[in-house]
Amino acid sequence: LRAILKDGSLLETRAFIGGKWADADDGATFEVTNPARGDVLAKVADLTRVEVARAIAAAEGAQKDWARRTAKDRAGILRRWFDLMVENVDDLAAILTAEQGKPLPEARAEVLYGASFVEWFSEEARRVYGDTIPGHQPDKRITVLRQPIGVAASITPWNFPNAMIARKVAPALAAGCSFVARPATETPLSALAMAVLAERAGVPAGVLSIVPSTHASDIGKEFCENPVVRKLTFTGSTEVGRILLRQAADQVMKCSMELGGNAPFIVFDDADIDAAVEGAMVCKFRNNGQTCVCANRIYVQAGVYDAFAVKFEAAIKKLRVGDGLAEGTTTGPLISGKAVQKVQAHIKDALDKGAKLVVGGKPHDLGGTFFEPTLLTDVTPDMAVSQEETFGPMAPLFRFETEEEAVALANDTIFGLAAYFYARDVSRVTRVQEALEYGIVGVNTGIISTEVAPFGGVKQSGLGREGSKYGIEDFMEMKYVCLSV
Ligand code: ADP
Repeated sequence: LRAILKDGSLLETRAFIGGKWADADDGATFEVTNPARGDVLAKVADLTRVEVARAIAAAEGAQKDWARRTAKDRAGILRRWFDLMVENVDDLAAILTAEQGKPLPEARAEVLYGASFVEWFSEEARRVYGDTIPGHQPDKRITVLRQPIGVAASITPWNFPNAMIARKVAPALAAGCSFVARPATETPLSALAMAVLAERAGVPAGVLSIVPSTHASDIGKEFCENPVVRKLTFTGSTEVGRILLRQAADQVMKCSMELGGNAPFIVFDDADIDAAVEGAMVCKFRNNGQTCVCANRIYVQAGVYDAFAVKFEAAIKKLRVGDGLAEGTTTGPLISGKAVQKVQAHIKDALDKGAKLVVGGKPHDLGGTFFEPTLLTDVTPDMAVSQEETFGPMAPLFRFETEEEAVALANDTIFGLAAYFYARDVSRVTRVQEALEYGIVGVNTGIISTEVAPFGGVKQSGLGREGSKYGIEDFMEMKYVCLSV
């Protein structure tokens, strides 16, 4: 991997603690493999709770100075970090594809998407305003200050090794918090490369630490039990989110949770079918179906069901499965054997209960964790896919008759992250966007992620928002000052 990088020093395998690059105390390492080929890319420092506690202590030591700097100063450093991420996009993308598997163009897009949060929050850093409130008594003057929470910590997944971290670190640093990030075991190299650039950009020692570790639950406990950490921000499954929320309760710690989704994608009779097919393709198959906002349940109204299915099938057949580093690949491998099993289980369950296989359906001839992009029709609500995220390249088509039925089906889940629908009737568009119980609704589009808008879920999909003018709130406290004159 180092051989294809312009700047080999971005391939860092040590942990970054309190401004120093360090091995684990006991020298332990874990292997990072390339999911497309199965070969070992690097051996990365495998930290324990002890070293993570040290990173937290360093973060505490650095935080007050960082917060005391002017917002302009913090903004300038974040801006430099953004510039360096953009300058090094090719290398960051190559590292990301190698450890995660997504095609290089998607990896580039992710790096730029991650960087866009650093840019955005470099700007927002300077716009953290307080309030003055007319007093409730003649001698009272009321002001509201907004101050950084303190030390923040994150736990993130492998599906967006760069952007999930950038989305959390950027607002935290902008607000004046310091940060300890534990990247996913599958994809620590992107996080470490980001830290190399953060250091070059002038992020002071201790303000950002990266603590790779295979001991996920130990690190989660340290983050929740160490009284110095005042904020936990997590992206991952609802199941693990619940564990962390329970653990965080003991310290009444502030938490942001970006959890699972089960996104419905609804195509109404009055939709532009070609546009809907195009939207469904990116929404379902981006990152090989491994995003929490990927369409998981595709509901198509009876009148356009067959027409949609035919065009969707044709589009799916154009996907090219392969190594993400190879030219022309649209669809990489899945992250792991476990991920393949989940897709297979959902397909089997649906077929056993009467769904029809239109295309794909099995592991790809390339072997490893490559899987054929799959389309199923005649999928019904009793099948597992209607309640659980597949997180893979399987598109299930459900049929519905009425708008009310579609909305009821879409909302019939514990999740509430992203929903999508295609329709042209203005009244319908208005009714449906209001009726969907989701934090994010895409209307006539299959792509909704941007740094300028608030990303986050309702119901069991999470707490808090990332990006936009609201994202920085998750890292700030409000202090009301009552002055008697
Ligand atoms: P995914 O299926 O996307 O990996 P998970 O919720 O299982 O979703 O994992 C998300 C992140 O949370 C990963 O970095 C994982 O290592 C970490 N994790 C898993 N279990 C725990 C736990 N009990 N405490 C803290 N972190 C955990």
